[in-house]
Amino acid sequence: MVYSTRMSRRTRIVCTIGPASSAPSVLTRMMRAGMNVARLNFSHGTHAEHEVLLRNIRSCAKKAGKTVGILQDLQGPKIRVGALPEGGVELHQGQKVSFSTAIDGYVVNGPLPVTYKNLHRDVRAGHRILLDDGFFEVVVTGVKGRVIHTKVVHGGLLKSRKGMNLPDTKVTVDPFTEKDHEDLLFGVAHGVDWVVLSFLTNPDVVTHVRRIATSAARSHGVLSPWMMAKIETAAAVERFDDILECVDGIMLGRGDLGLEIPMEEVPIVQKEIIEKCRRAGKPVIIATHMLDSMTRNPRATRAEVSDVANAVLDHADAVMLSAESASGRYPAATVQAMAAVIDEAEQSRFDAVDIPTSDVDSPAHAFAHSVAVMASRELIDAIVVPAGLLDVALILPRYRPHVPIFVGCEDESIARKIILSAGVVPFILPLDAGTFLPRSHAMLIRLGLMKARDHIVYITGGGGALSLTVYGG
Ligand code: PGA
Ligand code: MN
Repeated sequence: MVYSTRMSRRTRIVCTIGPASSAPSVLTRMMRAGMNVARLNFSHGTHAEHEVLLRNIRSCAKKAGKTVGILQDLQGPKIRVGALPEGGVELHQGQKVSFSTAIDGYVVNGPLPVTYKNLHRDVRAGHRILLDDGFFEVVVTGVKGRVIHTKVVHGGLLKSRKGMNLPDTKVTVDPFTEKDHEDLLFGVAHGVDWVVLSFLTNPDVVTHVRRIATSAARSHGVLSPWMMAKIETAAAVERFDDILECVDGIMLGRGDLGLEIPMEEVPIVQKEIIEKCRRAGKPVIIATHMLDSMTRNPRATRAEVSDVANAVLDHADAVMLSAESASGRYPAATVQAMAAVIDEAEQSRFDAVDIPTSDVDSPAHAFAHSVAVMASRELIDAIVVPAGLLDVALILPRYRPHVPIFVGCEDESIARKIILSAGVVPFILPLDAGTFLPRSHAMLIRLGLMKARDHIVYITGGGGALSLTVYGG
C-alpha cells in the first residue's frame, strides 16, 4: 500500500528575466509560484546588467531554499535591420525598398542597413524577407552589387534593429559570432548552468563551443555549462537527429521557427521533437508566446491555456515564458497561471506514457523500465538515484513516473542542471564515507521530502555495477 500522493509538479517552468522581473521581490514571488529555471536573454542587456540579474536570482533562490537553474541564451547569428531613425521608417504596400550590406547606419533616402554583411550573396529574386516577427513582408526583385532591391507586400512602421527572417534563402552566416564568444566567456565565468545556441543548424558548432566553454570553465575552477540547441530554422529541423546527439538539451524556438517554416507545421514538429528528446533522455523546452497575452492582460486566452496544456501532454520537460516574465505587467501571476495549467494537465489521464518492453536494450534501461512499472502500478512513493548514475537518472523521465525522481547531488551545479528534466528533484547530499542508501534516506526524511513509512526504490551502483533496492513498508 502506498501512502503518498505527493505528485509534485513534473513539468518545469523557465522564466525569462528582464526589467519586469529583476527586482528580488518579484523574483521571490515567481520562485514561490513555480519558476524552476531563469533564462537570461543575451540579445538584450549589458554584462553589468546581467551580473545584477545573476546576483539577484541566486540570492532569492537561496533565501527561498529552491534549486533554480540559470540558462544563458546567446543571441546567435540573428539577422536584423540596422539602426534606423527614432520614429522608424514607414513601408507602404507596393513600394520599392532597398537594403544595403555596404552601410552601417541609416542614410536619408538611401537603402536600409542590415546587420548581415553577406546577405546580397545569399538572396535571389523572388525570395521573401519577413521583418519584425513577420508583421511586414518584402519580396526581392533583384540584387545589384551589395544592394538588395525589394517590393513591399505587407507594410507598416519598421523600427530600428528589428529581426529579419528569410524562409526561402539558404544563409551562410557565421554560426558563432564574436559577441556570442564574449558572452559565453562571461557566462562561464559567472557559473551559468546551461548555454543555449540560437539559430544552430550545424552540430559541429556545438563541439566547438563546448571546447571553448570547457577550457574557460577549467581556468575558473567551475563546472562547464551544459549545451542546448535552439531549434528555430528549417535547416535545424532537417538536421535534428544529428544535433540532438551532440547536445545535452533542446529548446524549440517557435517564434522564429513559425516564420522560417509554414506555421501549420510547427505543432507537428513540436510533437516529433519532444518524442525524440524524451526517448533520448535529454530535456526539451517549448518556448515562445505560451501565455503571450498576459504580457498585457491579467488573464490568459483559452487558446494559450490549451497551448501550455498540450505541450505538457506532449511530454515536454519544460515550458517557457519570454516577454510575459521579462517585460510584462504580471510576471508572478503568469507563472501562477502556467503552474495551474500544468497541474491540471498532469493530473489528467492523458498524461500517461506507454511503457513498452521493446525499449529495453541495456541494463540501465531495464532498471529504469522496472522502476517505471512499479510507479505505474502504484507500488512505490519515490525513486532515489545518486548523481553518479546520471545516465540512469535521466532515462527515468522518459516514462514520466507519477512519483518524484530524487537525485542526490554532491554538487549544487549538477542540481541546477538536472532540475530542467521533468520530475527530477535534486537534493544536496554532502560527500561522506557512508553508503548512499542510508544517508540519502535520512536526508530526504530530514528535508521533509519523504516519510519513514514510504515505499522507495533506490538505484545504486558504481564501477559498472547497478543494484536496485526496494525499501519500506
Ligand atoms: P528568441 O528565440 O526568443 O530568442 O527569439 C525563441 C524563438 O524564436 O521562439
Ligand atoms: Mn528566436
